[in-house]
Amino acid sequence: MAERRTGLVYDERCVAHEPPGGIPPGGLPDWAAVPPFERPERLTLTRRALEGSGVLGSVIELPPRFATEAELRLAHTEAHVRRVLDLAATGERVEVGADAWSGPGTHEALLLAAGGPLAAVEAVLDGSLDNAFALLRPPGHHAERDAAMGYCLVNNIAIAARWAQRERGLARVAIVDWDVHHGNGTEEIFLDDPSVLTVSLHQDGLYPAHTGGLATRGAEGTNVNVPLPAGTGDAGYAHAFDRIVAPAVRAFRPELLLIAAGQDASATDPLGRMSITVPGFRALADRAVALADEVCGGRAVALLEGGYSLLHLPLANLAILEGLAELPATFAHDPVGVDAPVALRDVEWAAVAAAEQAHLP
Ligand SMILES: [Zn+2]
Repeated sequence: MAERRTGLVYDERCVAHEPPGGIPPGGLPDWAAVPPFERPERLTLTRRALEGSGVLGSVIELPPRFATEAELRLAHTEAHVRRVLDLAATGERVEVGADAWSGPGTHEALLLAAGGPLAAVEAVLDGSLDNAFALLRPPGHHAERDAAMGYCLVNNIAIAARWAQRERGLARVAIVDWDVHHGNGTEEIFLDDPSVLTVSLHQDGLYPAHTGGLATRGAEGTNVNVPLPAGTGDAGYAHAFDRIVAPAVRAFRPELLLIAAGQDASATDPLGRMSITVPGFRALADRAVALADEVCGGRAVALLEGGYSLLHLPLANLAILEGLAELPATFAHDPVGVDAPVALRDVEWAAVAAAEQAHLP
């Protein structure tokens, strides 16, 4: 067994979420249509990697559960919850918000993607697990209090943070988001709430284009944006984690660390222009584990957000799960064959220095 009691939350019913695809959806003739980026294979290929690697023998599989409507309302307006559930219940392919769709299988999947992390948080807080990874979809970090967007219908990680506060009495929860896109929804939900620290590492100006800047710090400085230049790889992310993420989380003293683990900063992702390798994701997971050990007794729950490279995502997810469980890494080198820039580039150093100056004066 692993050093840690690490939980894995996975459910085949989240594979059945099949939003319409193509760019722009419906805007191309059939012969030119491309499959959706946020597609079921993100999970099925991850599952195959987990099974093939043998890691499942060293982690504890935890069944997810459906979130209740009241739990969805922990982070959303009643109107939003009603709208999303009513549209999803039809089973038809419909647009629920900007770049966010519902389709067959979405109703069950979204309730599991929101409820699964709650089962993980509960197990970690009651001490039956040390940490956990919820590998479910649809993702959540773009969903705002009253709006679905960017493949996200409800904000799973925001609901998990609120649940830990309301149901288990936690005073402070930290959310670290390394998805290549800005966690705008999570920011919007907690911007004026100093009891939840939100930290987002993202590609500067990617999506949404107009959020994620250094100036958005929240009423008490508990919103930390770290925009990074395109091309940032393993060294740049490690540097940003060490210089900004870790000090900000340390100073905040959370009782639980939640990680919005989107792997779309991988070197082959179609929606990002970053360069993280499989060992680079392992290094991020190792840092998160060490940070949680230092500040909150190791209590950490990671939630899958984005990640659209079917080459890198499954292996990055495996690397993160191995990191959470402190298992030897299956891949010491990037199996996709990507050479990450070894040294920190000047533009990465400068971006981190600017974020340090804005957030840690
Ligand atoms: Zn993303």
